[in-house]
Amino acid sequence: MDIEKISNSFLGKLNPRFLSWAFNHLRAIPAVRKRIEKEFDSLLKDIEQQVKPYRGEFPSYAKLPEKGIGRAQILKEMKALKEREESRWKNGFASGAVYHGDEEHIRFLNEVYALNSQTNPLHSDIWPSIPKYEGEIVSMTAKMLGAGKKTINGEVADKVCGVVSSGGTESILLAMKTYRDWARDKKGITRPEMVVPVTAHAAFDKAAQYFKIKIRHIPVDENYRADLAAAAKAITRNTIVLVGSAPSFAHGMIDPIEELSELARERGIGFHTDACLGGFVLPWAEKLGYHVPLFDFRLPGVTSISADTHKYGYAAKGTSVILYRNPELRRYQYFKATDWPGGLYFSPTFAGSRPGALSAACWAAMLSIGEEGYMESTRKILETAEKIKKAIKEMPDLFILGDPLWVIAFGSRTLDIYRVMECMGKKNWSLNGLHKPSCVHLCITLRHTQPGVAERFISDLQSAVDHVKQHPQEKGTLAPVYGLAATIPIRTVVGDLLERYLDALYKV
Ligand SMILES: *Cc1c(COP(=O)(O)O)cnc(C)c1O
Repeated sequence: MDIEKISNSFLGKLNPRFLSWAFNHLRAIPAVRKRIEKEFDSLLKDIEQQVKPYRGEFPSYAKLPEKGIGRAQILKEMKALKEREESRWKNGFASGAVYHGDEEHIRFLNEVYALNSQTNPLHSDIWPSIPKYEGEIVSMTAKMLGAGKKTINGEVADKVCGVVSSGGTESILLAMKTYRDWARDKKGITRPEMVVPVTAHAAFDKAAQYFKIKIRHIPVDENYRADLAAAAKAITRNTIVLVGSAPSFAHGMIDPIEELSELARERGIGFHTDACLGGFVLPWAEKLGYHVPLFDFRLPGVTSISADTHKYGYAAKGTSVILYRNPELRRYQYFKATDWPGGLYFSPTFAGSRPGALSAACWAAMLSIGEEGYMESTRKILETAEKIKKAIKEMPDLFILGDPLWVIAFGSRTLDIYRVMECMGKKNWSLNGLHKPSCVHLCITLRHTQPGVAERFISDLQSAVDHVKQHPQEKGTLAPVYGLAATIPIRTVVGDLLERYLDALYKV
């Protein structure tokens, strides 16, 4: 694919701000639009091939079959699709993605799902078991994250509460909406702003877009931790919440949560700890003796925490927990409609009907694993991470960004790191490409603690580095895309391309 053609054909090397301005006007001109679309079309052909690799091999259904297809036949087709090439995560080739993945664990969760597949907590009168599960998931998670414990100023965090959501993104969106409505009610803020480190998850930008909250990004220091002075400067009269990650998705670094949350408390605003990734790891890492700075409700300024049960909580995909310091705050999250002809309607999260079976499976996962199980998993993950970090540090062409516990981002000062990633892809690895700065990460899960996986990663990485060094002329196909995203001053082009990518996913 020749993505560079796009940049070379009409970008040149002009002043980025001028380009941005000019391009947004140019883009509206039909002839220009047509040219861009043409360039995109050839690119998209490659992308479509990548996202629909089974095309031609399997029947496709653009409309309902006239007569229902036999269940056995359907199952057969789906099994074939899974086996075709969707099982590489099992052997630890993926970064993150599947956090537990042991067959017996999966079988157990599937059984729990099957038992509860018809349940819907919207009808709590029909299935009162689901609110029981959800209440207990919230309570167990809260207890892990400082609920009931003494805070550093001697009070007890005894009112912590929360709800179960569908994932980290929903937990974050809900929290931001809650602060918006809280600040409007309590402080009369009508033009809300949030202060968010650049390394915080994109879900905060999504919240800003969806809920019309202005987002002020603050930089991070050389260790990829939020800059405290910048945070203090970014807070205005309209700020509703300050955010920190424990740890961040990209570099696995924990922001200075204690200092940030104190700042928020002094200014009378909310503080959200995004522990989507770390919520079910850090409490156990602390008990195991690793250095883990405080990030939870033991800090009096922390007013909400998101923690993903569907990551290191080892539940099936589709659950997360959003916790609040007290029920008064949580109430701003709730929706209620008292005039609707459909009846008195109320719901805790964005969805109406919800899959109770996922909450049931989450509850069952937590109960079956228990403190000892989480502790043991965390021990294995952190030990595997130590092994891999040590090996990367010994590779002179690579360096690790910051000083992470188990989400290891690495870059290179001598090589194109995206080409290294691509070589790893040829060896079956699926790593995460990151940018600003250019790097790649491996998020260690239980899959990587299986015997031999860390060793295979290390030797594959070494030979990928060697290959890139020995073949400086090779261009690769992925590397230029990241290169383009990193250099293109015109965000709209990259954005347009991403839209086309999403369109491609839905093609039949
Ligand atoms: C994964 C993640 C999220 C978002 O979670 P989803 O479950 O993918 O919606 C938010 N923050 C961090 C730090 C994460 O790692």
